[in-house]
Amino acid sequence: MDASMTSLSVLRAALAKHGLSPNPKLGQNFLVDANILRKIVDEVSPNPGELILEVGPGAGALTQAMARRGAWVLALEYDRGLCRLLDELFYSCQRVSIIQADATKEDLAAIARHHAAQMGLYKVKFVSNLPYYLSSDLLYQIIHNILAWESITVMLQREVAERVVAFPGTKNYGGLSVAAQAVAEARLAFSVPPGAFWPRPEVYSSLVIMHPLARPLYGQCASDFYSLVNAAFRQRRKTLASALKSLEMDRQGTAELLAYAGIDSARRGETLSASEFALLAAAYRSLKHRP
Ligand code: SAM
Repeated sequence: MDASMTSLSVLRAALAKHGLSPNPKLGQNFLVDANILRKIVDEVSPNPGELILEVGPGAGALTQAMARRGAWVLALEYDRGLCRLLDELFYSCQRVSIIQADATKEDLAAIARHHAAQMGLYKVKFVSNLPYYLSSDLLYQIIHNILAWESITVMLQREVAERVVAFPGTKNYGGLSVAAQAVAEARLAFSVPPGAFWPRPEVYSSLVIMHPLARPLYGQCASDFYSLVNAAFRQRRKTLASALKSLEMDRQGTAELLAYAGIDSARRGETLSASEFALLAAAYRSLKHRP
């Protein structure tokens, strides 16, 4: 594994050798900018002995760089042709294991926990230059099993990245922002222009870093929390008093809930922070279970 896969000529030769070309249906835009690659790996900060789960390793550019820093990398790739390329590339590198699988059909947290336990580790870093067409699905999967991860480093379409870190009351703020911010501290590391990939995507990308909170803000009230968030954003321009009616509460019940949580009923859901939604979920649960 000597030559770097961020070199376009090396990448093209490796793909050609295996009879492959980038498949747009699988979101195959390969990173070909060595400087961006180094910045991503610096953000991941792989340490010797750590385990990283990477989704969509492609031709292995990021995989290779993380393994070179001494981490173990479990890389899940859907494309069988790329898996053959990766098997050959990492033939002599014991720290890299390639698994052919569709990440959307796998329980990524269970895979991570299983391999971590075998290595006597507790947590795993999640890394992916995500195929854009399934980034929301995979992000939700990660968010719903947040405690499996030590950190999450994902390259996303810039618009999706901006939604993850958006502040309450801004136009990008929505269900994804609340879900992410209820379980992790999320920040945008940097943006990446289309020219850093081959073939060039039509959009800018951004790297998002998430560090899980010790405990999700919603505590034991996850399902109430998500019901409230969904109801609030289904009709985001309406006041909470009106939007929460879809939860089969009458006007009086909604007013009581908001008063109990100490939230002004004239506010719109899109102005509530993740902690305020958590307060609302706790109040909702208390009122539901009141004798
Ligand atoms: N990590 C490589 C890089 O940065 O150059 C490639 C990133 S490319 C944007 C996305 C990768 O995800 C491709 O290798 C693609 O084949 C893979 N992929 C697409 N759908 C997948 C799925 N459902 N499960 C696993 N991998 C998938």
